Amino acid sequence: MSAASLFTDEHDALRESIRRFVLADVRPHASEWERARWFPDELFGQFAEHGFLGLKYPEAYGGQGGDFLHEAVLAEELALCGSGGVAAGIGAHINIATPPIAKFGTEDQKERYLRPAIAAEKISALAITEPDAGSDVAGLKTHAKRVDGGWVLNGSKMFITNGVRAHFWVTAAKTTAEGGHHGLSFFLVDRQDGVSASKIDKMGWHASDTALIALEDVFVPEENLLGGENQGFYLIMANFQWERLVMALGAVGAMQVAYDKTVAFAKERNAFGRPLSGFQALRHKLADIATTVHTSRVVTYDALERFVRTEGDAVKEVTMAKLATQRACFDVMDTCLQIHGGAGYMEEYEIERMARDARLGPIGGGTDEIMREILSKVLAL
Ligand SMILES: Cc1cc2nc3c(=O)[nH]c(=O)nc-3n(C[C@H](O)[C@H](O)[C@H](O)COP(=O)(O)OP(=O)(O)OC[C@H]3O[C@@H](n4cnc5c(N)ncnc54)[C@H](O)[C@@H]3O)c2cc1C
Repeated sequence: MSAASLFTDEHDALRESIRRFVLADVRPHASEWERARWFPDELFGQFAEHGFLGLKYPEAYGGQGGDFLHEAVLAEELALCGSGGVAAGIGAHINIATPPIAKFGTEDQKERYLRPAIAAEKISALAITEPDAGSDVAGLKTHAKRVDGGWVLNGSKMFITNGVRAHFWVTAAKTTAEGGHHGLSFFLVDRQDGVSASKIDKMGWHASDTALIALEDVFVPEENLLGGENQGFYLIMANFQWERLVMALGAVGAMQVAYDKTVAFAKERNAFGRPLSGFQALRHKLADIATTVHTSRVVTYDALERFVRTEGDAVKEVTMAKLATQRACFDVMDTCLQIHGGAGYMEEYEIERMARDARLGPIGGGTDEIMREILSKVLAL
């Protein structure tokens, strides 16, 4: 399979249907939701009605029985919705919070959490990061103490997407006093007394809720331990490649949107008696952006193809794709903003929003510095 033949006619048809839905039902509300700093929970229901919350999940749990490529199409097309926050909220549910349940959950857990998540009856969040531990997950301090019939969790979680609206949090906690990566476990934590989430204001992704979560004596029953006890680090690692691929795909989609928007603007807007695109200095910038969009897409599709072919084992290429696309996306947005002149600084043209939203890319899902550390190891530097 080559990158060129990666997507079949079926994927192309899905792309068309996602695009129609996003442009008709999401895009028109993006500005309103960005201003409100919240998108309605009901949007999950609209995605579910189309089957878009379960593209890669088995039909047995209400999914569409597709594969990672179906999900990849959604990740790229979501960029058309006009709000990084909406893409992040929906994306966190389907790409980071529910995959560990699908992969490591018991039948009972899949029935109680995956099925309702696919149907949008329950909204999910993944809670790993803490105030004192982000890149370095070995430094997590949230602790789960064994008690009769289950566990009691205490600690706090930071920057959790969907953290306020979630019905349950897929939460990492220490289950031994051992340091390092050992003794980490995952728990399915329901909304309940003892869990409090507060929304944090941020630079971009305004429509999404990013939360600080406090866990105070939260009882989690034995049957909500996800994956094996002390197997949490393995569980974290298992979805990293997919999360990073999704971010690369999202950046490719966003860059394409910004490029199309900016070319249209540069052809329409006149200065000194000619369209902006008539100036070589600006034309060359557009040519550079087109090149960046193309190379980013090729690198990302190549990583995706290897990821699918090797069933998730394409660390080098996925890491490179994330590293190559995230800073590039922010730089592209900045150049597009510049070509828009004063209009670029105004909310109406949406380029300033796209630039703010893109700034998260080199930070979230593993920072650019961490990507370089991983590559240093993989390349034995
Ligand atoms: C909007 C938003 C949404 C998020 N959503 C979620 C979510 O849903 N769930 C979740 O669990 N987390 C989430 N995160 C957390 C995100 O994954 C972390 O912010 C990220 O992993 C970085 O961790 P940190 O913020 O603690 O930074 P730190 O790890 O403290 O890093 C600070 C700086 O030091 C650098 N650094 C750290 N270690 C090294 C090193 N070894 N070598 C060189 N440089 C280094 C980093 O690259 C960075 O520049 C979200 C974050 C944001 C901003």
